Parts: sequence; C-alpha cells; structure tokens
Amino acid sequence: MAKEHPRSPAEMAAAPQVLDTLHRPVRDLRISVTDHCNFRCVYCMPKAVFGTRYHFVGHDGLLQFGEIERIARQFAALGVTKIRLTGGEPLLRPRLEDLVARLAAIPGIEDIALTTNASMLSPEKAAALRKAGLRRINISLDALDEDVFQRMNDVGFPASRVLQAIDDAAAADLRIKINMVVRRGLNDTEIVPMAERFRGTQHVLRYIEYMDVGNLNGWKLEEVVTAKEILGALGERWPLEPVKAQRYGDVATRYRYVDGQGEIGVISSISQPFCGSCTRARLSPEGQLFTCLFGTRGHDLRALLRDGGTDETLYETLAGIWRARDDRYSELRATAVPQGGQKVEMFHIGG
Ligand code: SAM
Ligand code: SF4
Ligand code: SF4
Repeated sequence: MAKEHPRSPAEMAAAPQVLDTLHRPVRDLRISVTDHCNFRCVYCMPKAVFGTRYHFVGHDGLLQFGEIERIARQFAALGVTKIRLTGGEPLLRPRLEDLVARLAAIPGIEDIALTTNASMLSPEKAAALRKAGLRRINISLDALDEDVFQRMNDVGFPASRVLQAIDDAAAADLRIKINMVVRRGLNDTEIVPMAERFRGTQHVLRYIEYMDVGNLNGWKLEEVVTAKEILGALGERWPLEPVKAQRYGDVATRYRYVDGQGEIGVISSISQPFCGSCTRARLSPEGQLFTCLFGTRGHDLRALLRDGGTDETLYETLAGIWRARDDRYSELRATAVPQGGQKVEMFHIGG
C-alpha cells in the first residue's frame, strides 16, 4: 500500500527504514526539471557538443508537475525530507513556484532548495519562490572577473547580473550558497577573490572540484584543483578551522574563518569521495530515476505513471530500487570503469 508519511519527528524515527545494500537510507531527492539551459558552461554543456543539433527532451516527454509531485510523495514516505530542484536551468521551466508549492505541501518534506545560474531570477521570481515555500537557493558563480566568467558560461552572461540576482534572493529572504566549480587554467585565479567577495556576508561560498560527470565535457584529471589546493590557497590568506558536519549525508566539508567572517564549503567528490554517506536519489526531466550522479542506467518512472501505475506500485518500485542500490562510483573511480555504458550527463540530472 502507498504509505502516508509519518508526521512527527518521533513517528519518523520509529518508521521502518528502507536501506540500500550499503545500509544507506534515502533522504534527499534531486529533481532535474529540464535538460535545457541558456548557458553553455565549458565544463558542463560545451558548445561544440550542445549546439543546435543536440536533442533535448521535448515538452511532452517532460514530467508534468503533478507527476513529479506523485513521485516526491512516495519518496517522502520512504524517508526523503529534502528536495532540491535543479537542471539544466530550472528557472527555464515556467511557473516553477507552482511546483515548489506542491512539494512544500507534502507531509515529511522539510526543506526545498533550488540550484540555478540565476540568469532568470528577478526580484519578483525570488519573492514568488519564497512565498511558495522555497527557503534556500544555490547560485552558481564561477568567477567575478567578467572575462573569466563569460568565457566559462560561453554565452557572454555578465557576473554583475548574477551578483545582482544574489542580492535579489537575499532581499526575498532566501538563504544563499554560492557554487563555484574550479577548473585549473580557467578560473583557479578566482579562488581567493571569490572568498574575499563573500567573506563577511551571510552567503556560504562552496568550492566544487571539477568532476568527471557524463562523457561529453572532456574531463581531465590534471584540470581538477583539489580541495587541499583550494584550502591551501585560502589558508595562506585567512586561517580556517573545520566545522562539524550538520547532518549525515552533507556533501560539503565545512570550514570557518578563524577571524569570524563566516564559513566556506569544499565539495571534494574527486579527492575525498563521500559515497559511504550518500543518501541522494536523482530524477531526470523525463522521469528516469538514478541512484548515483555517475549512473549509467535509469529506472523509467514516467512509463509506470503513464501506464496507470498506482501509488502503491510506485512506492514498492522505489523501495525495490533503493534496496538494490550499491553505487559508490567516486570511491571506485581510481580502480574501476563503470559497467553498462555511457554515464548520465550532469545537465540531465543536475548537480
Ligand atoms: N543550471 C544550474 C546551475 O548551473 O546552477 C543547475 C544545474 S548545474 C548542472 C548544477 C551544478 O553543477 C552547478 O553548480 C554547476 O556548476 C555544477 N557542475 C556542472 N558540471 C560540473 C562538473 N563537471 N563538475 C562539477 N560541478 C559541475
Ligand atoms: Fe547550464 Fe548549469 Fe550546466 Fe552551466 S552548469 S551549462 S548553467 S546546467
Ligand atoms: Fe553518491 Fe554516486 Fe556521488 Fe558516490 S559517486 S557520492 S554514490 S552520487
């Protein structure tokens, strides 16, 4: 039977846990609402590959908001408390705030966040998202220097407009994190200026190691700037100390400035993998469920829904997929080649 999510923390704690083969519960659901994007970040959707001839998911292929809500509801029954909307560029999806409102109404969902390039985040949109139930937003900004940033997004979008959107999000009372992917030779010169810009604000800057997601971004290990190098560069200027992880499954390792000017995070998926506590499931725009960012095979939930599958069947399907999960790609990266074909792309299932 489809489960109604337990409502109180005590009921939650008493609920039977669905664990994967490595004893990890499912806690986070990342939903990619579109694979389209108005940027062509060189590390994600390089222009040479994602030109006019590339086939993106068409309108009819996308999961509708009602379908996403049904899936999220059954995930909440399995123990998911946190949902992140991502993409592609999620704000390309009209009326995203309507989806936020639907998800916020699901019992057990405590936290809804959004990852965006912020190019379409007006003050009105930020306020509408906040009103619908969004509390946190991660805004991607890889550089302050206009030449560097515009070369990285490869569509000439100005960093100044992203900075304005950050202010608009703050004015709408959204908690903000800034995501910066660091690629050697491209924006490693921006590590310290970015820290300088966001120190002393409420916004937490998170440095992300450049990852080998997908097959199309031409990833090279030499281009990864490791967490150790990033912390070294920052530590020379401002002493840092570690902060205890807030919750099981946090992806970023946190540090605070000893002088009290706030904190930063480092996401070291390459140099210090964190598969052991990975509680994330990922839903693609056309309803494929992936249990790892580096997955090669999704599970088709759209077919189940559109063939008249009930909530009971959906719950049992999700539980079965999670119980069988054995992913730990990042831990195996050094020694193994993933089985079963091409990895899913980052723009397809989000960060
Ligand atoms: N378009 C939105 C954005 O850029 O924020 C959301 C989707 S994007 C795929 C999510 C996050 O993944 C962004 O912060 C982006 O910088 C990061 N990302 C994309 N490709 C990456 C890669 N190869 N390695 C590490 N992070 C990457
Ligand atoms: Fe688009 Fe985000 Fe990928 Fe950049 S990182 S191309 S903004 S999906
Ligand atoms: Fe989770 Fe897969 Fe990343 Fe490991 S490689 S942390 S299992 S998404």
